[in-house]
Amino acid sequence: MPKRKFRDAWLHDEGFREWIRKVDDDDSKAYCAVCECTMVTEITTIKRHQTCRRHTRALAQRAAPADQPPPGVRDDDVTRAEIKLAAFLADYNISINTIDHLTLLLKDIFPDSAIAAKLSLKRTKATRILHDISQIAQEQLHISMRDNTFCIIIDETTDISTCKSCAVVVKLFNQVSGKI
Ligand SMILES: [Zn+2]
Repeated sequence: MPKRKFRDAWLHDEGFREWIRKVDDDDSKAYCAVCECTMVTEITTIKRHQTCRRHTRALAQRAAPADQPPPGVRDDDVTRAEIKLAAFLADYNISINTIDHLTLLLKDIFPDSAIAAKLSLKRTKATRILHDISQIAQEQLHISMRDNTFCIIIDETTDISTCKSCAVVVKLFNQVSGKI
């Protein structure tokens, strides 16, 4: 019986090319790169391997790794998204409690987003982020006020629950943005 040899055509075959490899120095064997196993170079054996459960499962897993965000998502991108989300709440005076639900909503409506998949932003972290941002904003305001002339608007009031409030507004020219 003639010894069967590895056929180069298999390397381009629609059903095989994804996983079939040559074995160095032994053309009577074929290697499966997915299952990491060798088999004899007989078409029935190769076809049987192609449809065996272990192989199809390994191949499917490789195509879509379970619960693993696709590679290429940097932690910096996730952090940036979390900071922007927290800042958005502060910017539009939205309750910080909504962030627990907003994070889940984003994961739900953007299932194809690797960044959304890695978001882990809840009240505690969002509060911490806003605290840190506010410190930097205050420092920048101090610097601007020290270097520029400014005017102050003060108004006080007592609300219906007799809680006293005093609002202080500073108006100045920001040299960086070129705006009042
Ligand atoms: Zn295989």
